[in-house]
Amino acid sequence: MVAAKAAALLDAFDSSFNVRKHHLELIREAFVNEGIRALETDSDEIPAMIPSYVNSLPTGNEKGTFISLDLGGTNCRVAAVQLLGDGKVEVLEVKSAVSGDFRLGKVESLFNWMAELVIELVTVKGRHLFSPSEVDGSETIYLGVTWSFPVNQTDINRGKILRMGKGFSLVNADGRDLVELFHEAFERKGMNARVSAIINDTVGTLVAHAYQNPLARIGVIIATGTNAAYIEKVDNIVKLPKNYRSKHAHESMVINSEIDIFGSPAYLPVTEYDVQLMAGSAQPNFQHYEKMMSGMYMGELTRLVITDFVDKGALFGGVHPGGFDVPYSFQTAFMSAIERDFTAGHSDSINLLTDNYEFLNKPTERDVEIIHHIVKTISTRSAHLAAATTSSLIQKQDLHRDDSTEPIVIGINGSVYEHYPFYEERLMAGFELIYPQNVCSRIKVELARDGGTVGAALVAMLCSSKNK
Ligand code: ADP
Ligand code: MG
Repeated sequence: MVAAKAAALLDAFDSSFNVRKHHLELIREAFVNEGIRALETDSDEIPAMIPSYVNSLPTGNEKGTFISLDLGGTNCRVAAVQLLGDGKVEVLEVKSAVSGDFRLGKVESLFNWMAELVIELVTVKGRHLFSPSEVDGSETIYLGVTWSFPVNQTDINRGKILRMGKGFSLVNADGRDLVELFHEAFERKGMNARVSAIINDTVGTLVAHAYQNPLARIGVIIATGTNAAYIEKVDNIVKLPKNYRSKHAHESMVINSEIDIFGSPAYLPVTEYDVQLMAGSAQPNFQHYEKMMSGMYMGELTRLVITDFVDKGALFGGVHPGGFDVPYSFQTAFMSAIERDFTAGHSDSINLLTDNYEFLNKPTERDVEIIHHIVKTISTRSAHLAAATTSSLIQKQDLHRDDSTEPIVIGINGSVYEHYPFYEERLMAGFELIYPQNVCSRIKVELARDGGTVGAALVAMLCSSKNK
């Protein structure tokens, strides 16, 4: 009886979560069109298709030591990135958690603190990597900055801070020029340093991967959230100022797509569980696509499905485990542990469940098999959706065209892609639903380095050599 109930529920679950070829093609076309619109309109809403002002990629042969500074929600990381040529890098970093005082205080205090981290790197921890004149300040050092907060960028080294979010609420920060704030702090600290570029981590992912594989044309992040960068013709970036476009006509630029905000329930194959997740999220009706597939949400979707199965008597004997009602308590990493469990009797998965929730009766092997099926289906959907949206960036660059034999190289960064078992295979299976074999065989999906450090240092290098 219970078995029949579970089988019927699983069938219904499968048919709502399996995305088919026509869905993926619809999504690809819709994302292409949304992308074109976003390149044309300079909207006051949260922008997509953001110009990076990065208009060259590394060749892999560049050498030298460059500095990056990456301020994220939790940490500030300052790194000396040694470009060794032949796509090889070595990174030495100073990392420090951003304290509450810096999140809420005067903007100058935060920038003084970041300047001190640069001093620590150049004069102490990484001293051996810099020339005596760089260490004593008689020679200028150049930094690339990865800024993981909204910024209204108007050039590679110019951009005004918009509201910061992620727990930051600084006095006098909004509207200030990011690079000037750094330069003022360097001056206060008596440093001879300049910020030569500001980038976003997705742009960094593409640039960093291009150093490793110069054929890379797309960088994707599949982590807490998702995002992607690609290369666009300046002529097509209609929203750039006219004089910039005419000066750089026929050139290319890396675009931060902010693909996370693309997508509408009008064509996305949303299930009742997606609707439920959206209704309970902090920003309902925002990021429909990202909420179906990224690391922050897959575990929660799983929790909602399991809860429904328990409600209907198809799991855990119909008894809700203690603590299972806590939103976001079921992590995406649990899903990947369950898929990686090849122990006899699924003992690892059973232990994972009983370690995290309170059970009246221990979960059965059958319970785990059902849950395994659920997580496999949810993560497969994520990978297939990622293939569809990435293919929109392949289309925009016409990389799939029939007369080309070039590899289509995609660098991907993020814990979901890196650590979720079979994610890469499922991503490729998604491409196989979309493209014929001759195109799929050219698609090379590769693990990309962290764009926040290596990418920013590379862009600093590309820009400072131009400025010199
Ligand atoms: P960030 O988003 O800060 O760049 P990560 O690339 O580490 O950081 O991605 C974090 C996301 O990856 C989280 O949403 C988390 O759920 C997910 N994650 C972390 N470890 C794993 C894992 N082993 N398997 C699957 N997902 C994971
Ligand atoms: Mg990251």
